[in-house]
Amino acid sequence: MAEKMNIPQFRSFVDRSDHAAIARVFDDKYIAEGKVGVEFRDTLIDYIGASHGVLASNGTLALYLALRALGIGPGDEIIVQDTTFIATANAVEMTGAKPRFVDIVSYKDPSIDLSRIEVGENTKAVMVAHLYGTACSNIEAVAAFCRDRGLWLIEDAAQAFGVRGAERHCGTWGDVGTFSFFADKTITTGEGGLVVTNDESLHERMVYLRNQGRVASGSFVHPEIGFNFRLTDMQSALGLAQFSKLDVITAAKSEIYSSYRRHLEGQVEFLDVRPDFSFIPFRVVVFVDDAEPVMERMKARGIEPRSVFYPMHRQPCFGRYSYAESEFPNANACFRRGICLPTWIGLDAEQIEYVSRALIDAL
Ligand SMILES: *Cc1c(COP(=O)(O)O)cnc(C)c1O
Repeated sequence: MAEKMNIPQFRSFVDRSDHAAIARVFDDKYIAEGKVGVEFRDTLIDYIGASHGVLASNGTLALYLALRALGIGPGDEIIVQDTTFIATANAVEMTGAKPRFVDIVSYKDPSIDLSRIEVGENTKAVMVAHLYGTACSNIEAVAAFCRDRGLWLIEDAAQAFGVRGAERHCGTWGDVGTFSFFADKTITTGEGGLVVTNDESLHERMVYLRNQGRVASGSFVHPEIGFNFRLTDMQSALGLAQFSKLDVITAAKSEIYSSYRRHLEGQVEFLDVRPDFSFIPFRVVVFVDDAEPVMERMKARGIEPRSVFYPMHRQPCFGRYSYAESEFPNANACFRRGICLPTWIGLDAEQIEYVSRALIDAL
């Protein structure tokens, strides 16, 4: 057997050009949110194809900002896909509204199962997450469902920057879409986020809420009550440098995905990926009968695999909602079977082969 390798779950893809971009902000002596932030925001909304956008300090606050701008609060119920990162559900909790979790389509397709949504008197919105670098398999149907019933659609596209179909970029079907630039996302600012919308008045509310209830810094007259969800120009400079490498990032991630497929085809199942959308694997996700013991054996070989998201309805922090397990067979199976393989840029052919072999041996 080959020598033991240590392979972490993720490493950020940052290099000298990112470093130089941050250094230029230092040279200007203006490190808070300023003109670089404006350029970063405009670059992003132009690329995504949205009419408006605001930066946020991270993806969690981007979701919260979107919900607050929509006026969501106590007494409201928001439908949330059961398989997602905790921030999607927590953003709802933070407004005082109640998340109502709904199962996913199948263990290989973590999109919300439309047929299981029950719209009640207090239901105001549906929140979906485009996970693992592909688009929700049914986003068009979800958008139509929301339109027909007068519900808002909020898309958590934290993992879907660069993921687009012929018509639209993820995050632009709904009333509002959010992105994250955390260290392991497709492009990163360390921590950072973005909200996009085509609704002018929603945009205006977000502008006030994110910056102390005023349109721009420099005034001490505050027409509204607001927060500080700004992003520094140090981070925006990093974001612009990262954005300029989006093609390189996409190609490198696709190559890693293809290598894993070559090694693992027929041995494991892969996540369903929409063929009509660009695919930028956030992680390469594979499914086995029982992930836990397989991951333990991989860890013993120096690899850091990760599970897929723990279902929201089972989260200890949401224990008071007491959901019936029978409502969530697919989210439960997704968690039981799913393994996220290391997918960071810089992983070489030998390391990918090592991870693949360790996975096959573990099976
Ligand atoms: C990363 C992520 C978030 C939260 O973003 P942060 O920038 O870490 O706050 C929300 N939802 C999903 C699906 C994510 O992957």
